Amino acid sequence: MYIVMLGPPGAGKGTQAKKLAEKLNIPHISSGDILREAVKKGTPLGRQAESYMKEGKLVPDSIVLELLKNKIEEEKRGFILDGFPRNLQQAEELDRTLREKDKKLDLVLNLLVSEKAVVDRLSARLTCPKCGSVYRKGDASYERGVCESCGVRLYQREDDKPSVIKKRIKTYLESTHPLVDYYKKRGVLRDIPGEGSPEEVFEKIVDSLGL
Ligand code: ADP
Ligand code: ZN
Repeated sequence: MYIVMLGPPGAGKGTQAKKLAEKLNIPHISSGDILREAVKKGTPLGRQAESYMKEGKLVPDSIVLELLKNKIEEEKRGFILDGFPRNLQQAEELDRTLREKDKKLDLVLNLLVSEKAVVDRLSARLTCPKCGSVYRKGDASYERGVCESCGVRLYQREDDKPSVIKKRIKTYLESTHPLVDYYKKRGVLRDIPGEGSPEEVFEKIVDSLGL
């Protein structure tokens, strides 16, 4: 299956994409994780992407596509895309790529979360630098500050600071939210209420897919 996860920053796209990828046994491709990895390694593309990410802006399409294109083209069994596409040009690019392989997008899961919940979640979460898992206040791993699967120290993402959070939400509303209509018209959009625990949200996704 070819699936896209849509929703504002902090909606839980990464968490749900990971779980679903495991269940369906297909890869989880996170543009944010791939970009952060490139930044960390200091590759030429990573160095170009860094300042945009710090400011909560979209990284230019050419950079994102260069990092993602191979991964998308190589996948034969399907994938769950998380963080891509993020604007109409990227969505059209994805369509084109799939069409070239005689495939099409099966489903877009749109996680619905209020702006208030998004701000609360982003400002109180820690991320694993290795696997990208996020932990919220109250989780045992959050309190210990260590990833439960990797055993490495968690950190606060630079763009999870209040000033950048605002900008990321603005960027989402301007550039990414239009994709909701784009996919609705195509009949592939499925709204998923995204508030509640990660397990509750995942159950809704599983139900809605009839798994
Ligand atoms: P979130 O969805 O929580 O904001 P991500 O990890 O998906 O977090 O993205 C973090 C940052 O990486 C974004 O703010 C943006 O700068 C950049 N980014 C990720 N995916 C894309 C993309 N498809 N196009 C442009 N920029 C991207
Ligand atoms: Zn980890």
